[in-house]
Amino acid sequence: MKIVIVGAGVAGAILARRLARLPGVELHCLERVGPDDHAEAGTGLNVGPNAIKALRRLDAALAAEVEAASLPWTRWDIALTDGTPLMALPLAQVADNPGIRIRWSELYRVLRQGAGAAIRYGCTLESVGASETAPGKTRVRFTQHGATHEIDGIDLLVGTDGRYSRVRETFSGAPEPRHIGVAILRVLVPDTSAGLVDDYGQWFSGCHRLLAFRVPPDHVYIAATYPVAPGAPVQDAWKTEAVMRATYQPAQGEASPAVRWLLDAMCAQLHDAHWARMQEADVRFAEPEVDVLYLGDSAHGMAPTLGQGATQAMEDACAAALIVEDAWARGQRTPRVWLDRIVAARTERLRFVMDLSVRATDTMLEGADPVAGTRWKTEAPFQAELAALFRDVALGVPDDASAQAGAATTSAAAMPAA
Ligand SMILES: Cc1cc2nc3c(=O)[nH]c(=O)nc-3n(C[C@H](O)[C@H](O)[C@H](O)COP(=O)(O)OP(=O)(O)OC[C@H]3O[C@@H](n4cnc5c(N)ncnc54)[C@H](O)[C@@H]3O)c2cc1C
Repeated sequence: MKIVIVGAGVAGAILARRLARLPGVELHCLERVGPDDHAEAGTGLNVGPNAIKALRRLDAALAAEVEAASLPWTRWDIALTDGTPLMALPLAQVADNPGIRIRWSELYRVLRQGAGAAIRYGCTLESVGASETAPGKTRVRFTQHGATHEIDGIDLLVGTDGRYSRVRETFSGAPEPRHIGVAILRVLVPDTSAGLVDDYGQWFSGCHRLLAFRVPPDHVYIAATYPVAPGAPVQDAWKTEAVMRATYQPAQGEASPAVRWLLDAMCAQLHDAHWARMQEADVRFAEPEVDVLYLGDSAHGMAPTLGQGATQAMEDACAAALIVEDAWARGQRTPRVWLDRIVAARTERLRFVMDLSVRATDTMLEGADPVAGTRWKTEAPFQAELAALFRDVALGVPDDASAQAGAATTSAAAMPAA
């Protein structure tokens, strides 16, 4: 059984670690960057309680490593930029366990180390397509250290190559992005706040929102939003200190101490800021004619409002690993059966998460009232949806089956070296 995973990011690294254990699987996980690439060092992530719940269930040891490299995400506080509180939500009210706050580069480091020798670094994909010799199977061609390699007759090809997935583009065309109407600036700054900023907080000035939280070691991640007409470009005029400070001043009174510190810290790093426009893209987990699976950003573009991009990539990978391990333990060796189970387990879940992420963006749209927009988030219907988001992970296997499948594969083969 030949399995190729393209991309060892969040989803790919988790899946590679698990599938490398299956006896009889020839696994190749091809990653473009080198083992010490820190391209994402400048970003922090809040990863939802649902991803940690899923990872603990799949792989307690890996979950412990991820949690050790992070801080717990336990609160969601919302205020106006003058400090007037609007919402104070302990996540324990809507989740079974905390989420995490972590540097993106740290998450990659821990997950890639966990997959050990299963990942082949420095592999640049040249082409991918249907196999010419075996119906339903696929082939990839790639270069590594200047040499070209080809793998043909692939039983299962997994595209975990992120938002601009070459695999998905080849088989079904690049997904059409839908702009949500919000531009977002993100920056990671040294933590000199002396405790003013710690767990996940948001501060509104009209529809403009600051978001911040502390991540280890000693940094604060800050995101600032501007409404922008869907499809319109991010305006250069916003990228100046004067505009940024004016945007987040309260309509009346003084900015709170936390907001003053955030503005100082953000403006000192404006040259380093990452700007993007919020967007989403349709869900597609599998190809119908060839045995190709997508997970994470390649399967669904996600509005970032609820921090569900990496979170759902983790949930996806946990579900896929549990389903394949469960099938493997039962002797089911037909990738199409696995794909059908993954599609059935994940599609509606993703539609719900994407829809909720877009609806929760209401307070950041042009002309929005943050007070009214926050009020409905404190009410029972939204909190029930949050509880469904954070608690009802959709993994596609009954509780006891994952435990049995995990035990079977762990005893059958050693872990790849860390
Ligand atoms: C600035 C920013 C902030 C974010 N904040 C959050 C947050 O707070 N919470 C959250 O949950 N999500 C957040 N996200 C989203 C999150 O980072 C992504 O959703 C997540 O990384 C998706 O995981 P993935 O495994 O699908 O893809 P990725 O993590 O993007 O991994 C894709 C991998 O594929 C490799 N690759 C790509 N093309 C090829 C190729 N042709 N050949 C070989 N390898 C290839 C890449 O090098 C990479 O390692 C944020 C994103 C950005 C940009």
